Amino acid sequence: MSTNADRKIALITGSSRGLGRNMALHLARQGVDVVITYRSHRDEAEAAAAEVIAEGARALVLQLDVADSAGFAGFADALKSALGQQWQRDAFDYLVNNAGIGIHAAFADTTEAQFDELFRIHLKAPFFLTQALLPLIADGGRILNVSSGLARFSMPGFAAYAAMKGGVEVLTRYMARELGERRITVNTLAPGAIETDFAGGMVRDTPQMNSAIADQTALGRVGLPDDIGAAVAALLSDGGRWINGQRIEVAGGIYL
Ligand code: NDP
Repeated sequence: MSTNADRKIALITGSSRGLGRNMALHLARQGVDVVITYRSHRDEAEAAAAEVIAEGARALVLQLDVADSAGFAGFADALKSALGQQWQRDAFDYLVNNAGIGIHAAFADTTEAQFDELFRIHLKAPFFLTQALLPLIADGGRILNVSSGLARFSMPGFAAYAAMKGGVEVLTRYMARELGERRITVNTLAPGAIETDFAGGMVRDTPQMNSAIADQTALGRVGLPDDIGAAVAALLSDGGRWINGQRIEVAGGIYL
């Protein structure tokens, strides 16, 4: 294994399951160490860490509820001491704002509580968590904000969710503008529909929806977590260094 000084460290929010976990695995295969965070499924987070370690990378597991901005300063403190203890470093290199939930509700039926929850998780957290972590992100580092194809096209039932994702895409450009002075790049990664637990496993477990989405996708199927993990590893490789302030849709060509 290379020395601590050579190794890159990624922090992926919501990496106990789904896309975040798959990103961790692909980054580990690329020689990147990973800080895995979870909200409530510690067992899944530990299993994700074991997968990373099996690939020869280092992993650290931390609890983080991105819906609770009051906890961000404490999380940054915990991360800082863990970086010192485990890596003898005071910074990490890649932040992926990935944690999220799906709420499927028609515009007419969406409650204020649902809207506020989606706002806290999908827009407020990328803003204020990143702000709290800025002193710990290395100059020349990278930030990826996870959005959704639903910010470009519309499907009934996702008005509030997609509005937050649209907000994060604008935020990405502003972050890229201001963090450029520290040579930190900031991009949006927008997955299409992927088979995970997201929104109650809707894409994976509803055959009708799965095939309807596949029909609208140039490559003829819905996405799998590996499609996203591999794309993230590619973006966070050296070859991605000049990509900045962009929205990259990883969706097999949906609704072209
Ligand atoms: P999953 O439901 O499979 O996984 C969600 C992950 O986020 C889990 O690790 C979960 O932790 C964590 N999480 C959920 N809520 C919180 C919270 N309040 N604080 C911290 N962590 C939290 O979802 P996906 O992997 O599919 O989704 C990941 C991202 O991708 C989301 O931002 C989603 O909006 C986006 N996306 C997903 C698409 C899809 O079709 N799957 C399509 C487009 C975008 P725990 O295990 O502890 O619950």
